[in-house]
Amino acid sequence: MVAEFVVTSSKKLQVEEPEFPTNTCVLCGALFSAKKPASTPDLTKIQSLFAACKERKDEVGLRLLAKQSSILDGSVSIRYHRHCLPVDVHQ
Ligand SMILES: [Zn+2]
Repeated sequence: MVAEFVVTSSKKLQVEEPEFPTNTCVLCGALFSAKKPASTPDLTKIQSLFAACKERKDEVGLRLLAKQSSILDGSVSIRYHRHCLPVDVHQ
């Protein structure tokens, strides 16, 4: 049973699915538009965003934190509306 579990979980890891769709905001889930364009954060903003997520611990925050290492190393990219950022990230 143990061996079976290992095989199953390593198989699952090989399936690379995009965790965050690039046409919608990771914070509110709405589509981007001309009036509400996408903002792609730089590393400084991403780190501020994670700091805010740790404070908030809401559903979106926890989802982002679960992918924190992948986002920081660039294997997962996130996009969001600039106005959807938590206020303290703007500083
Ligand atoms: Zn948004």
